[in-house]
Amino acid sequence: MLGPRYDVLMRVAATSPPRIDGATGLLSGVRQVLSPHFDSRPPGVVPELLIVHGISLPPGEFGGPWIDRLFTGQLPPNGHPYFKEIEGLRVSAHALIRRDGEIVQYVPFGERAWHAGRSEYRGRSACNDFSIGVELEGARDIAYTDAQYNQLAVLTRALLDAYATLTPEHIVGHSDVAPGRKDDPWPSFDWARLHALLARHLPD
Ligand SMILES: [Zn+2]
Repeated sequence: MLGPRYDVLMRVAATSPPRIDGATGLLSGVRQVLSPHFDSRPPGVVPELLIVHGISLPPGEFGGPWIDRLFTGQLPPNGHPYFKEIEGLRVSAHALIRRDGEIVQYVPFGERAWHAGRSEYRGRSACNDFSIGVELEGARDIAYTDAQYNQLAVLTRALLDAYATLTPEHIVGHSDVAPGRKDDPWPSFDWARLHALLARHLPD
């Protein structure tokens, strides 16, 4: 009989947090679908801001390969009327958290992903230069899942560990840096819940 102590060890092993490799900017233990839509941050610029986004493709529909396809420039324009509308769009995010909590990484965190567009944070424009973009698969009127909040907290913890220049005070929504133009992750995103989870994950 293995006993409760073994159970605890197994639980710890099963939930050992992912880590970001400082050299490659890649998160361990997640699916990587590397996007061609990225370039270098300006010299000397490091991640100082985390931008949370919401996305679903087509809008309001979950699942399917379409977000991977969009971020890798392989969205078939004839696959859906909306895909035709956004044909040729070259965008990416560093990572996506799907409805079931799966994390997918598209761009190494040290590189510049193309997620914020025209944007400004505290008087500083071009937020892609100094931010990390994380997409949540979601929609305006549908609550995000428990798994997504938990995984966003886990990912954020890994980012805070990897980049000393990131802090919990500098986490915003796309709507905060591009007001009037973008409104994701929408009112369906519960900021208080994220911060409560982060507080739990922070070291004592
Ligand atoms: Zn967005």
